[in-house]
Amino acid sequence: MQVKCTICDSVESIDDHCFEAKRLRNKRILMHLCQTCYNRVGKKTLARHATGKFRLYSEKKTVDEFI
Ligand SMILES: [Zn+2]
Repeated sequence: MQVKCTICDSVESIDDHCFEAKRLRNKRILMHLCQTCYNRVGKKTLARHATGKFRLYSEKKTVDEFI
């Protein structure tokens, strides 16, 4: 089936029987991101998570050193 990216409006074709196609057929509101946008958004999210985790770990480490 043909799906349109919510962010950049590029049209991709995905396997009719894949999980995302089933979800998109059931709920038409659902966002679809093309590979490019998915990578961009995914990288941003991962970077943010990595920063958060790094902070968490360094805080814990500091506390441990004091104990
Ligand atoms: Zn896109």
